[in-house]
Amino acid sequence: MNRLRELSSQVMDVYQSLSQEFSAYQSSQSLNCVEKCGACCNKPDIEVSPLEMLPYALHLFDSGQAEQVFDELQSYSGFACKQYQRLSLDGTEGYCGIYEYRPGICRMFGAAGYKTKSGEATLSVCKPIKQAVPEKYAAALIAIQPAWGQSHDSDPMSTMSISSSKPPMIAEGRQKLAQLDYELGDKLMPINDALHYILEKILTLMFYSQNIDDGVAA
Ligand code: SF4
Repeated sequence: MNRLRELSSQVMDVYQSLSQEFSAYQSSQSLNCVEKCGACCNKPDIEVSPLEMLPYALHLFDSGQAEQVFDELQSYSGFACKQYQRLSLDGTEGYCGIYEYRPGICRMFGAAGYKTKSGEATLSVCKPIKQAVPEKYAAALIAIQPAWGQSHDSDPMSTMSISSSKPPMIAEGRQKLAQLDYELGDKLMPINDALHYILEKILTLMFYSQNIDDGVAA
């Protein structure tokens, strides 16, 4: 269990740097999330690794809620991330119920860099942001052309503007997390399943460690 706690602390460190890096880019391009928008949370197929849910799962365990949430997830058939708190009937408005512990993808998604199937780096911006600020989206697309096309520019001022307009890559963020523990971090699954998976691991570990303690005491 100590190993999982240490891992969780490393995950939270990576989360902090990912949040800073991605929100700095999004703010610099005025491509921030639309207020109260829950478009990316209002579906159950957001994919994360069990490692990404480890900090929240340990929080549940420490606060005595792990078994209850584990049972609820087993029968959960909702059409959204279970942590999503709706503010409107259709679910388009809401907020994250575990903001402090939200997984890596939730910190990176919105406006970020990704590689196409042909390996070309490009900018991904979610539909609500594109619709809210189309001119900012167009400007960010234009701005990435020099960023990825002229990487050997010798003018320091130009280099500064290039680095600030280059979006951080989601794949690199995922890699930073996965390399902490490939067994838990490399496999992606729907977000509710990932929480269920890591809760099961924690509860099983605790069950066996308690049995060993009881055996030693007897
Ligand atoms: S964890 Fe929070 S931010 Fe991520 S999908 Fe669920 S509700 Fe949305």
